[in-house]
Amino acid sequence: MLQTISLLSELINCPSITPDDANCQQILKNHLKKIGFNITDLPKGPVKNFWAKRGNNAPLFLFAGHTDVVTPGDLKAWQFDPFKATEHDDFIYGRGAQDMKGPLAAMIVATAQFINKYPDHKGSIGFLITSGEEGSDYMDGTPHVMKYLEDESEKIDYCIVGEPSSQHQLGDTIRHGRRGSLHAYLTVHGKQGHVAYHQLADNPIHRAISAIHALVQTQWDEGNQDFDPTSLQITSIESGRFGENNNVIPNALKLQFNFRYSPLSNEDNIKQRVEKILHEHHVNYDITWELSGKPFITENSILSQKTAQAIQTVMGISPKFSTGGGTSDARFIAPSGAQVIELGVCNDRIHQVDERVNIEELQKLVRIYYLLLESLLVKT
Ligand SMILES: [Zn+2]
Repeated sequence: MLQTISLLSELINCPSITPDDANCQQILKNHLKKIGFNITDLPKGPVKNFWAKRGNNAPLFLFAGHTDVVTPGDLKAWQFDPFKATEHDDFIYGRGAQDMKGPLAAMIVATAQFINKYPDHKGSIGFLITSGEEGSDYMDGTPHVMKYLEDESEKIDYCIVGEPSSQHQLGDTIRHGRRGSLHAYLTVHGKQGHVAYHQLADNPIHRAISAIHALVQTQWDEGNQDFDPTSLQITSIESGRFGENNNVIPNALKLQFNFRYSPLSNEDNIKQRVEKILHEHHVNYDITWELSGKPFITENSILSQKTAQAIQTVMGISPKFSTGGGTSDARFIAPSGAQVIELGVCNDRIHQVDERVNIEELQKLVRIYYLLLESLLVKT
């Protein structure tokens, strides 16, 4: 029988820095073929994706995840080679151990165990795997596969995304929704001139300051029981050249900011409110917007109940349902109407040096995924 740790080690040993898959998907596909899955390769641009399905009936239970990882950063800072799985003190070390090669291995092993016990289970099982989650090519990943599934009239009922959702203990936190994410790129126009003759110039920095102050002081909404209040964070300001030309008023200021927004706000009213503030402060500007994901939530669903039960059985704890944290590919799956939950191992080392996963924790995740399949796909 397939072993979780050996599969995880095989995956870690592939240096799949986004969007390079580095052969991870071939390893997963080989295992899935052996247990009766039909595989459809759906590469796009530099990103590799595949869709795998076993069975033709509803309900369709989907495991979703990514094989790519972020860069290891400074190799000298790592205790072990990030692309050579190393077992040490109850942990497997390597880039992607938590995010999310560990959960990928757990999904495959749980599915293999489940099919071994219930070869004639009801419904179908699917895998949506991409190598384009961590980088700028994400639109070639899960969104591309979702478009294919829509064209094929595939309807996903339940979806588990293996993002590392747990905080202190496996299963203590389930993500059942996410805030929306909206990027803004603002240029404030002024008129360049000599600082000694400022009457002849128009200082864009001075113009922007009061507007920026108003933007960061604004309470966009108050959030609710499921969502934190909408928050605006400035991520970059640029104007003039620091250390040079200290007698020149620059002609423009560029500002970059991001909204993480709750469903109490929406894309349009945020944009209107921002532009109103800019007008009130007499700012001459251009702004472009980029919507990275709308907010979503899977509330009181069968999937959340069954997931909570499986965690209770294996861990003896009741999970907290959260919409915190960053975005994930769940945002591209939820709009299809599927119930979507993110459940994976602890996230204390994700994207850090010495990323590692606890071996026992990973074995328990296999058990939770297995019980979930059993509770949703076994005829009662
Ligand atoms: Zn991830």
